[in-house]
This record gives sequence, C-alpha cells and structure tokens, in this order.
Amino acid sequence: YKAKRHNATVEVYDPTHHQRNAARLSLLTELRQAVERDELVLYYQPKYAFKPDKALHLEALVRWVHPQRGFVPPMEFIPFAEQTGYIKAITQWVMNRAIQQCAEWQRAGREIHVGLNISARDLLQPDLPETFVRMLEAHACEARLITLEITESAVVDDPRNALANLERLRATGCSLSIDDYGTGYSSLSYVRQMPVHELKIDRSFVMNLTTHPGDEIIVRSTIELAHDMGLTVTAEGVETEDILLRLGELGCDLAQGYLVSRPLAVADLDVWMANSPWARSGSISSSA
Ligand code: C2E
Ligand code: MG
Ligand code: MG
Ligand code: MG
Repeated sequence: YKAKRHNATVEVYDPTHHQRNAARLSLLTELRQAVERDELVLYYQPKYAFKPDKALHLEALVRWVHPQRGFVPPMEFIPFAEQTGYIKAITQWVMNRAIQQCAEWQRAGREIHVGLNISARDLLQPDLPETFVRMLEAHACEARLITLEITESAVVDDPRNALANLERLRATGCSLSIDDYGTGYSSLSYVRQMPVHELKIDRSFVMNLTTHPGDEIIVRSTIELAHDMGLTVTAEGVETEDILLRLGELGCDLAQGYLVSRPLAVADLDVWMANSPWARSGSISSSA
C-alpha cells in the first residue's frame, strides 16, 4: 500500500469528459480501420445543366458503411477526421476512388465530370498536387474531367501556401471550385485571387430563393459577379421546381439538389439517367 503523494496531479473524474474522450478514441480507431477494411463508399449526386451539355456532372460524396452503426453521414466523421489529421488518408482514398470511377466511365464512352471535396487541411499539404497527378496517371484519367471542391477557409487560414498549391493543382488541368460559397469569410476579393473556375452557392441562400427577397438579391448578384469574373456557377440544395426555374432565369449554369437527384450509388445512376426528367440537360428551356 502506497500513500498518495500530496503533490501528485489528480485527474478529476468527469464522466462526461471521460466518455467523450473514450468515444472519440474509439471513433478514431474505427475510422482507421474503415479505410483498411474498405468500409467507405462513394455516392454520386448528379447536377442539372441549364444549357444543353453532352457531359454529365456529378459530385462524389463519401459515406461510411459501418458494420454496427450502419450508414454514417460525412458530417459525423469528416469534421472529426479533419481535427485529428486523419482526413489525409480519407481524402486520398476518395480521390483515388473517384478518379478510378471517372476513368472507367470514360473508357465506357461516357463523358462524366466528377467533383470531389478537398478539406482545408488537405490543401495545405505540399504533396497534394503530386499525389493527385500520380493518381490521374495510375488510372489514365484526364485531369479536365475532375473538379476539386475547396472551401474558402483554407485560403483564409494560410493564403500563401494555399494559393501556391491551388496554382499547382490548376496547372494539372483539373477544374477548381469554391464550395459552400457565402458561408465563410466570403468576400469576392478573396475569390478574385483564387485560380478557380467555379463557384458553388451554398444551399442556405438557395433554399429560400423564392421566398426571401434578400436571398434572391444575394444569389442574383453572386451569379452576375461570378460570370463577370469568368466563373461557372452551381447552386446547391435545389429542392423545388420553383427554385430551379428561378435559378434558370437568373442565369445560373448548374443546379444540384434533391429535386434533381439525391446522391446515388453507382449502380443507381443508370436508372436515374434513363428515367429522370432532369437527366437531360437544357430540358427546361427546350420544353418552355
Ligand atoms: P458539400 O460538399 O457542400 O456537399 C453537399 C451536401 O449537401 C451533401 O451532403 C448532399 O447530400 C447535400 N445535399 C445535396 N442536395 C441537397 C438538397 O437539396 N437539400 C439538402 N438539405 N441537402 C442537399 P453530405 O453528402 O451529407 O455531405 C456533407 C458535407 O460533407 C459535404 O458538403 C462536404 O463538405 C463533406 N463531404 C462529403 N464527402 C466528402 C469527402 O469525400 N471529403 C471531404 N473532405 N468532405 C466531404
Ligand atoms: Mg462539395
Ligand atoms: Mg457544397
Ligand atoms: Mg454545402
């Protein structure tokens, strides 16, 4: 029996704190295994192009099919992966899988453009451009078919390194897109410095487009300014036909949202293409 030393640091037992740490630790362990055990899967959400376009545009969205927990949405593990640094492994997995799929479609004669998400932290990794190029080469995929979606926060946090990497990524021939535009520190002066091709207006502005005049002003002026800068505009979170029509009137280029399609497993994309009225781009204007 040893007497307690008076100056020893005693961990105050806080059950909630302890449980939270234990839960995080087990999530991290499981997340590590998720990649090794191939529990991640990509879903693809189709976009509607307002002008006729031969190519189809999709966004790759990761899902975790956990053996016990079931389907885990990205918001339940991506932010955590970003905090722990494990996002790098996930991003590499996503990038590799999306590029492989895109190349497979192209070999099957289908022109499909695939967007994928890059976290702020990934963008600051100096080896990201090389990794990307290596994967394109490994799968014989054309860079022009891939769009990397980034958020502005990456550039705000460390502009010099982020912009340098963006320039190197752009030089590979891929497209770059600003995701969730309007939610961050978004000033168009930042966007102007960024070598991007596309701007995705966050769904929080799109959802109330036809009901909140303030949101319509934001969306309309964003589209105008983006076009003046030579950028393509995608609207996120399009859930109703009213909103889709209004976006078309405002000159938006692409629409993404549950109206057009939910994110789909690869096997379900063919069904969507064969049956959805939105699978034919430019169908609003041609039917009007
Ligand atoms: P995001 O990149 O802005 O992706 C769009 C999200 O909005 C997706 O959620 C999509 O399912 C959802 N969404 C699409 N249309 C609608 C709609 O009409 N209404 C509503 N309410 N939601 C809609 P998801 O798949 O849950 O992904 C959430 C976020 O997680 C993504 O937002 C992205 O930031 C992140 N994420 C997803 N996959 C990846 C990935 O592979 N890597 C990284 N780093 N982040 C990812
Ligand atoms: Mg995205
Ligand atoms: Mg987005
Ligand atoms: Mg979003």
